[in-house]
Amino acid sequence: MIHNRSAARPLPVVLPVLQDELLSSWIRRHAAFYGVGVNPMLRHCRLDVPLPRQLDLALTTSDQHRLGDIFRCGAAVIRGMTQSRNGKAPEGPIATVRPMQVCNRCASRHRAADITRGARLRSWMEGWRMSCPVCGTRLEDARPMDMLTKVDADDPLLARTAVHARMGERLIDGTIRKRGGAGLPLIELMRILLLPRPTVSENRPCRTAVPRLLDVVVPGFDQYLEEHYPHYRSPGTFLLAMAVRVPVLAGVGAVVSRPDYWAERLLGVSPRDFHDRLIACIRSLPGRANAPRITGTVVPT
Ligand SMILES: [Zn+2]
Repeated sequence: MIHNRSAARPLPVVLPVLQDELLSSWIRRHAAFYGVGVNPMLRHCRLDVPLPRQLDLALTTSDQHRLGDIFRCGAAVIRGMTQSRNGKAPEGPIATVRPMQVCNRCASRHRAADITRGARLRSWMEGWRMSCPVCGTRLEDARPMDMLTKVDADDPLLARTAVHARMGERLIDGTIRKRGGAGLPLIELMRILLLPRPTVSENRPCRTAVPRLLDVVVPGFDQYLEEHYPHYRSPGTFLLAMAVRVPVLAGVGAVVSRPDYWAERLLGVSPRDFHDRLIACIRSLPGRANAPRITGTVVPT
């Protein structure tokens, strides 16, 4: 039985952590298990937040240690379930409230038992994911607008970019999850690839209002975007629908594979204003610390 006391006591029964589970999800499951509601559970843990999700995004060191005692697992386990860095909100594209995507296979497995029903996984909040890190299943959009504009996974562009997209996903995941801010140049590259590029109207492959740099790396992207998202604009939050995310990840994978090659081609078609940003990004990519200096030479296209 849980009491609202100032001295938080360890819980008598602690539920196993699901693989890749969020801290907020685990706390919600404990509240359901003890039949006390989320707010009494937060008060028992002496956590002053209106929503458990905030614990995933910014959890202080003292909170980590207290939760480690209450849930009898230690602070490191608690920290590993969050998406924050040293108590600060993460810098990458991470959903702050509801999942962007879900793994239907894992969700279905969770639904099968009372104590795991409704669990949420970290990967469901991450804007660079296309597959579930637990079971490998392709993730599905969970936001209503994204579900409405969903593109079939067999679409020719998605099919031919899948290998590079998985590479982009692995690169970003390996740096963001394991080394925090070290993955930010890859996130910057995602943004850069969606920047508009000037083009001569008669050379346009379609009537896309805003041709993107990504079309240089992933030919056909502009047409694909026009076909599936005629009103697409770069979203302020940078949380991309899965059908846009996959080709963008493919662009990241391709550029990281041959940074000098793609730097020259991208510089050749991008406005002068973008050059400093593009060069700084390419130089910061993983594995490029000792690479030759990129000169910024503009090559004819
Ligand atoms: Zn899964």
